[in-house]
Amino acid sequence: MKKAIQYCYMCDKVATTDEHVPPRCLFPEAKEMDGIDLRKNLIKVPSCVEHNCEKSADDEFLMVSIAGIVSNNSIGYRHAKQKVERAVRRTSYKLLDKVFRQKELVRIEREDNKFIDLIVGTPDYARLVSCFEKIAYGVYREHFGHRFDGAVKLHLGFLHRKEKNGRTFNSFIRHKTSLELANEPRYGENQKVFYYQFTRPDVHGFFLLNMWFYEGVDVYVSFMPKASEKKNWLPMNLIEAGIKSYINLDGKTYEFN
Ligand SMILES: [Zn+2]
Repeated sequence: MKKAIQYCYMCDKVATTDEHVPPRCLFPEAKEMDGIDLRKNLIKVPSCVEHNCEKSADDEFLMVSIAGIVSNNSIGYRHAKQKVERAVRRTSYKLLDKVFRQKELVRIEREDNKFIDLIVGTPDYARLVSCFEKIAYGVYREHFGHRFDGAVKLHLGFLHRKEKNGRTFNSFIRHKTSLELANEPRYGENQKVFYYQFTRPDVHGFFLLNMWFYEGVDVYVSFMPKASEKKNWLPMNLIEAGIKSYINLDGKTYEFN
């Protein structure tokens, strides 16, 4: 029987490979987790070679960037301690140079008097955004069964911001999303590692995808379909233009600029 032609989840090329969304290496193997299977029914979408993260080594980059984030659950932490550190040692720490623009090792004392070593650094932001963008397109492809046609805009909630505007926006988008998603289902078979939710489209046809990794790494993706006339959300334009703006949300006021 002839198989129907499949197209890439990101572009209009014919797919020649399968792409795990998110990359498989983010999911710990059972032997790392005392036999617990965290690789149940991983999502796979058709992909061209160019948009396959495994082939571009983006998957390893992403794993090293996010598994060790401090606010993660213990699964992310154990994964960072085992697989990530192994990958780091195997490349004689060159992998870290690739991941972080600047880095340092900090030692944190926990309440039980044990120490944990953490590598903190400034991540390669553009590459991180590009990795999460591919995951967002992949999740859309899986969820709706076709490729998304339009523009996306990403916000990485888990990165700490130095400027006040960025911090305010972080609290705002977390609050807004939690209200809109309160009654929406969470998708993903291994939710301690990854799950996602979609909001319903607003009056302009925009909708938001919220992805969580290790319960501590949160990513927000606005989908703006091509068919929609509006190209941006007005409050966002005001904030980006540096104009003093206030947004009220469920009894709380967020002040920008
Ligand atoms: Zn492609």
